Amino acid sequence: MTPEYARHLAETLAEIEQQGLMKQERPIATPQGGHVKVNGREMLNLCANNYLGLADDPRLVAAAKASLDADGYGMASVRFICGTKPMHRELEQAIARFLGKDDAILFAACFDANGGLFEPLLGAEDAVISDALNHASIIDGVRLCKAQRYRYANSDMDDLEAQLKAARAAGARHILIATDGVFSMDGYLAKLPEITALAERHDAMVMVDDCHATGFMGPQGRGTPHHHGVADKVDILTGTLGKALGGAIGGYIAGPQAVVDLLRQRARPYLFSNSLPPAVVAAGLEALKIVEAGDALRARLFENAAYWRAGLESLGFDLLPGEHPIVPVMLGDARLSQEMATRLYEHGVYVAGFFFPVVPKGMARIRTQMNAALSREDLDQALDAFGKAGRETGVLS
Ligand SMILES: *Cc1c(COP(=O)(O)O)cnc(C)c1O
Repeated sequence: MTPEYARHLAETLAEIEQQGLMKQERPIATPQGGHVKVNGREMLNLCANNYLGLADDPRLVAAAKASLDADGYGMASVRFICGTKPMHRELEQAIARFLGKDDAILFAACFDANGGLFEPLLGAEDAVISDALNHASIIDGVRLCKAQRYRYANSDMDDLEAQLKAARAAGARHILIATDGVFSMDGYLAKLPEITALAERHDAMVMVDDCHATGFMGPQGRGTPHHHGVADKVDILTGTLGKALGGAIGGYIAGPQAVVDLLRQRARPYLFSNSLPPAVVAAGLEALKIVEAGDALRARLFENAAYWRAGLESLGFDLLPGEHPIVPVMLGDARLSQEMATRLYEHGVYVAGFFFPVVPKGMARIRTQMNAALSREDLDQALDAFGKAGRETGVLS
């Protein structure tokens, strides 16, 4: 490394530190779950994407272990050389069936799925219209494709229509609207009924990234398109095995057969990156089975979310409205959100403060996430901690 470059790195890191934006990682000593041990202390975990509590489920662990014994550890190949086992296709077909699509294709992560989706499907004559709050992986995926790019303000349907008209006026051949199914900082659902209606009116297609919904939103947890009753109007879905579906790793794209067929030939993160390990695929199949039969888990999750929301409101906290298990506690000031997170940590509750640039300035918050692994007792204990931390920081009087 040249001395100039070393200086440049040191300055950049110092700048991050100075702005109070340095992210710290706290190692967890236990499996991921409702209760975790951090720095030797038992804590309630309210910041995992472990919506159904499956991350440490013995059935998934057993499926993974059995597969390690039967199938070995790694595939040491991409899918099309010698990295496909029957179970890879089984999982793809199971995902497609679950979501009501023709077929699906696995990626190492949803980040890769979104990174590889747009470039093979859209050319310079085409247009992609993206919600301003879409996940970073969609933004990067769109950057990698040659299509004309349009952006609309978060969930602003007038703006979306204006962008659709602009793309049409510019002579776009094919138009794809891209949106998260759930915007993860707010827990707000994308307005899929309106989006799909606008798409129909302007002859566009719709892609939904349903990472924060698959497994628990909608009937049988089939996601936001089913939740809104517009599943047949959403062309392409992307999602992850890394959240409700066991929480390990792995992503997918599901959609019309020709879309999946073309992605298998052309998606770069699929063609030039390793096949998912068999143990992850086996546990993924098991997770999907549990999820399909998981009405009790989903009922528990939403009961917890309703109880949690009501409890925080009666303490006097300012929440964003909604039905999703993401429940953001609004604090406004960035430092206050960090202070609150620190106090909560001291009171045995593990949460993260989110502030600019992740959310707009003045909209700092603690994002809490409910899951099915938390008991009523856990929630009462967490509410007690929020009450204490709120009074200590002056958020509550
Ligand atoms: C978590 C998330 C991703 C990334 O998923 P990974 O499988 O962890 O790469 C992509 N999009 C959205 C909306 C997400 O919430």
